[in-house]
Amino acid sequence: MKLWIKDPKAIYTPETGGESGLLVENGKILSVLDQPPEDFDEVFDASNLVVLPGLINGHHHFYQTLTRAVPAASNRALFPWLEALYPIWANLSDKDIHLSSQIAACELLLSGCTTAVDHHYLYSEQLINATDLQVEAVEPLGLRSILCRGSMSLGQSQGGLPPDRVTQQETAILKHSQQMLEAHHDPSPGAMTQIALAPCSPFSVSKSLMRETAALAQDFCAGLHTHLAETLDENAFCEGLYGQRPLDYLEEVNWLRPNTWLAHGIHFEPGEIKRLGQAGVGITHCPSSNMILGSGVCKTLDLEKAGVNIGIGVDGSASNDSSNLILEARQALLLQRLKYGSERVEVRHALNWATRNGALAINRPELGVLAPEQVADLAFFKVDEIQHSGNHDAIASLLLSGTFKAEHVMINGRWCVQDGCLPGIDLNRLKAHHQEAAVELLRRL
Ligand SMILES: [Zn+2]
Repeated sequence: MKLWIKDPKAIYTPETGGESGLLVENGKILSVLDQPPEDFDEVFDASNLVVLPGLINGHHHFYQTLTRAVPAASNRALFPWLEALYPIWANLSDKDIHLSSQIAACELLLSGCTTAVDHHYLYSEQLINATDLQVEAVEPLGLRSILCRGSMSLGQSQGGLPPDRVTQQETAILKHSQQMLEAHHDPSPGAMTQIALAPCSPFSVSKSLMRETAALAQDFCAGLHTHLAETLDENAFCEGLYGQRPLDYLEEVNWLRPNTWLAHGIHFEPGEIKRLGQAGVGITHCPSSNMILGSGVCKTLDLEKAGVNIGIGVDGSASNDSSNLILEARQALLLQRLKYGSERVEVRHALNWATRNGALAINRPELGVLAPEQVADLAFFKVDEIQHSGNHDAIASLLLSGTFKAEHVMINGRWCVQDGCLPGIDLNRLKAHHQEAAVELLRRL
């Protein structure tokens, strides 16, 4: 079936063009239209809608939706924030993982996100099936995902930050990582589910685990992901523990390569930025989280100049505390303008971080662009709310005036959001169960 996405109010294509919309077939974009098509089967009227490539979320922790606005952590920097939350997270149950993954995926979809990376690193004797549970929760919703099998092996007794009971033996981590790759990882272009390997941070695992994780990812053509250079404290911690800066550590364990993308990537020196670019490493900028934790400001333009692909992530919901990707693109625009000035960070530059460059940062070049042969991942926004009234550029208004929700979302040719709702999902019921689980989780402390 050829679907004509007809006459959009505005459309975000790499160059100009697309005034007559798009032709979509079998989950792919067949053509970008300057004239009405001669041959089509169905029509979708987009005349009151702005059409963007589906937004790409490069970093998240779905489980943290259960710990939004926790008073003990609300006004803390990264390390004390982690110390306040780890004991709560250590009690997560299977049901919590399922519910939190569903809520985060729904929230992302409703904000126009079509591809999401989740970084889950809490595994224990009681919580060994987290990745399977996430696949079960996310796949039915139609969200394209890269689920990271994270890990922690250095608990408090070995100088790490997390409680020992949410760390695992390294042999168990590697064995389970391989099982998850075998069970769920599809390396082909257009894959709906992928697994990446993702130790929580360099100082929560050993060097040998970092090296073996990199080798395992390579065997399966899978990505590598971790937090790096988020705060000055973290750099100091790394220097204290290993006597080297985080990037030197990363290089030593064979992680400076094109299938690696790093969350935050704030505190790099000029020479390190150059090395990141040469290695083809991607960086996920998480502006809300960086502002809430007071971590610092990512040097996006310097990194791009060195050849690094920059994407955007909402980060976990304990440090944002929402998973709204179109709002996050606005946050990136505002924060980066504060750093570099308004003329150097155009609105469309921020939109590229949320789409095309974000896809490149996570090694998914088939995503994030409205062009022939790309996957049909589309986000449709209305600009009829009061804050858009009087605008002269509907695409720019999405970020400058601020928009909160997508009207429709298509992923791989399937409608996952229609008229601002998730078909087949009783969202009120899901929210009620999720809120109940959040209250119960704190009671277990
Ligand atoms: Zn994070």
